[in-house]
Amino acid sequence: MNRVPFLLIILDGLGDHSYSELNDKTPLEAASQKNISKIKNLGAQGLMDPIAPGVPPSSDTAHLQILGYDLATEYFGRGPIEAMGEGIELKEGEIAFRADFGTIKLVGDKAIVIDRRAGRIPTEETRQLVELLNKEARFIDGYEFKVVGLTEHRATVIVRGEDLSYEVTDNDPHNVNVPVLECQVREEAKDKEKAKRLADLMNKWTIKTMKVLEGAELNERRKKEGKLPANVVLFRGAGVMKKLPTFYEKHGLKAAGIAGGALYKGVAKAVGMDLIEVQGANGMPDTNIEGKFEAAKKALSNYDFVFLHLKATDYYSHKGDPIGKSKFISKFDDNLLIIDEKFKDTAIMITGDHTTPCDRGLHSGEPVPVLISAPSIRRDNTKIFSEREASVGSLGRIRGSDVMKIVLDMVERTVEFGTRPSPRLITYMPSELKFLKIS
Ligand code: ZN
Ligand code: ZN
Repeated sequence: MNRVPFLLIILDGLGDHSYSELNDKTPLEAASQKNISKIKNLGAQGLMDPIAPGVPPSSDTAHLQILGYDLATEYFGRGPIEAMGEGIELKEGEIAFRADFGTIKLVGDKAIVIDRRAGRIPTEETRQLVELLNKEARFIDGYEFKVVGLTEHRATVIVRGEDLSYEVTDNDPHNVNVPVLECQVREEAKDKEKAKRLADLMNKWTIKTMKVLEGAELNERRKKEGKLPANVVLFRGAGVMKKLPTFYEKHGLKAAGIAGGALYKGVAKAVGMDLIEVQGANGMPDTNIEGKFEAAKKALSNYDFVFLHLKATDYYSHKGDPIGKSKFISKFDDNLLIIDEKFKDTAIMITGDHTTPCDRGLHSGEPVPVLISAPSIRRDNTKIFSEREASVGSLGRIRGSDVMKIVLDMVERTVEFGTRPSPRLITYMPSELKFLKIS
């Protein structure tokens, strides 16, 4: 069997609109494409709807979909995925939320959110408050709450106990000058009784932690110094730790992930990829992009599938900065040179997990451009890699759920539809076959 390794590069929030400050080009069109064009000349492009047309994906759902997971049956919420990426070990069945220390002001019986980051409280102070909460608000009705402090205002909240369901809503209103929300049961919850139990617990815990934080010495000091107190824990993204079938079990490919942002590291871990840590990879514009490409180059010799994630494109989109985004894509293009020698014998896909138009500053439901090259592929005649050229590329318009089928075909691992070399219904030739014993 011909061994063709696959490199999946995701530039987060890559898709965009055109802007006058970029001469009516999109950030991708305006970027340097010296090395991208070499890949383009070896392949074809098209548009991808990560989930479905018009559906703006979150990064975690888009990634899982692209990696071949079924969101309806295999997505278990953002909280545990992000926690895993932060190196927190969760046990199966434990519930986790992503959380932020924020600032509230009590007005009547409402807690109005003044700041969702408590004035960007430093990591060390967050740790002190976390310690206090883990002592003073550890148990509610016999259920255990454990808070883990992350960088700055960020934290993870873990809930342990029997008969709970994660199918609850956020208390974070995702906006300022709005009251903290009541945690409620999701309408589509499969186990409403267990979800109600968790929602009630979360509401009691929110009120209890507000009181504990209000009395914290550290907050007294912050107020005296004219800083915002961190007097609320805003949570979102409830999820339950669940073991997913591994990427190898699903696709028969030995896979590695390279990412800086916690969520993306978490995705790689959740699907059982080997996570390759790169020093200075931080999911920000100053990430160690060179180090990430060096790591990818090395990994391509040992793995069948390498997932490389870069976050800064999405960062600039949320900031509404198309020039910054375009410059980062140019920097990405420069660094592609590191894997130049791999271009011809590797299958490479460059795409985004969603469109984040700089003029909207939020994820949109528009498709993303996808470029794919492989040693054996029907090439197209598109001129540059871009949202507009992608719409006439020979790959057409695909969905996120098509990606892994295309990947397996490009690495020449597919078997013809209907072929049954193994009891499991799979679309690739398994590496372990059961041979007949002749006695
Ligand atoms: Zn994203
Ligand atoms: Zn985003």
